[in-house]
Amino acid sequence: MRFDYLEPETIEETLGMLSKYDKRSKIIAGGTDLILQIRQKAIKPEYVIDITRIPGLDYITFDDQKRLRLGALTTIRALETSVELQKRCPIISQAASQLGSVAIRNVATLGGNLCNALPSAETAQVLVALSAQVRIIGPGGERTLPLEEFFTGVGETVLKPNELLLEILVPKIAPHTSGMYIKHSARGAIDLAIVNIAIVMTMEPEKRICKDARIVLGAVAPTPLRARKAEDMLKGKKIDGSLIDYAAQVASDEARPRVGSIRGSFEYKKEMVRVLTGRAIREVTGVTA
Ligand SMILES: Cc1cc2nc3c(=O)[nH]c(=O)nc-3n(C[C@H](O)[C@H](O)[C@H](O)COP(=O)(O)OP(=O)(O)OC[C@H]3O[C@@H](n4cnc5c(N)ncnc54)[C@H](O)[C@@H]3O)c2cc1C
Repeated sequence: MRFDYLEPETIEETLGMLSKYDKRSKIIAGGTDLILQIRQKAIKPEYVIDITRIPGLDYITFDDQKRLRLGALTTIRALETSVELQKRCPIISQAASQLGSVAIRNVATLGGNLCNALPSAETAQVLVALSAQVRIIGPGGERTLPLEEFFTGVGETVLKPNELLLEILVPKIAPHTSGMYIKHSARGAIDLAIVNIAIVMTMEPEKRICKDARIVLGAVAPTPLRARKAEDMLKGKKIDGSLIDYAAQVASDEARPRVGSIRGSFEYKKEMVRVLTGRAIREVTGVTA
């Protein structure tokens, strides 16, 4: 395992290195995924570019349009413990608290979790459910796209080797919106999810009518999977127990788990999607039946 370790101090310097070394280089942030991949010889970069010295990429702020802005170098622990986030967008802190151990969360970054692009990545389903966008910079300038379009396969994203993820933007959250994240794993947070689910719903509270719903399933497809048919079933409807059960079954039908996954059979994962989707919708809407 031999590589040159580079420590740029600006975004410009990083882009210069990425352009120069291109596919021979890899960015490192917290290193909790990358070091493992290098040790396992899954990748053999000649240059490892440490971006943690670049100032101004580690923040959690709400801008004047009430959009949430998260810097790519924000640690998972910061997402978990931010008092403002717990108050204004608790589903993100909830998901962050489920990623690995405190020791891992202290160094693991949000950008690393998204760029590593595992189908079970803890922050991905939640941020897709919140309609997040990603801001990317490369030699040609910046581009912004929906996070949903960022993932292209297991461990694959739209990022080019000479691009850097800068920021995650969550649009203003509508009133009466709440969400729920559930991770189902064999050994709690320390283990990767067998199935994980994020649900965000906007309700008309008095009439219990669903104005909007986003259901995102993890670890049941190569990328975060929107259960769009289940979402459509809920939108504009008065929510009751039988509708929830029906939507949960439809979400399960939409799941496409890989046959032969080591973390759960095709049938088990589908069944867990049904159970967890029903549980999450009940939790969010307060419907107990
Ligand atoms: C014991 C253990 C338990 C874990 N448990 C979980 C878990 O429960 N859930 C979970 O989701 N993950 C888990 N992980 C995986 C890992 O901790 C997370 O994915 C973490 O968020 C990765 O962040 P990082 O900063 O360490 O990324 P790194 O390892 O530094 O980078 C990961 C990848 O992203 C790229 N990258 C990083 N930042 C950027 C950027 N800004 N722009 C472009 N590319 C970038 C790197 O080049 C690399 O390919 C676990 C890991 C360990 C070792």
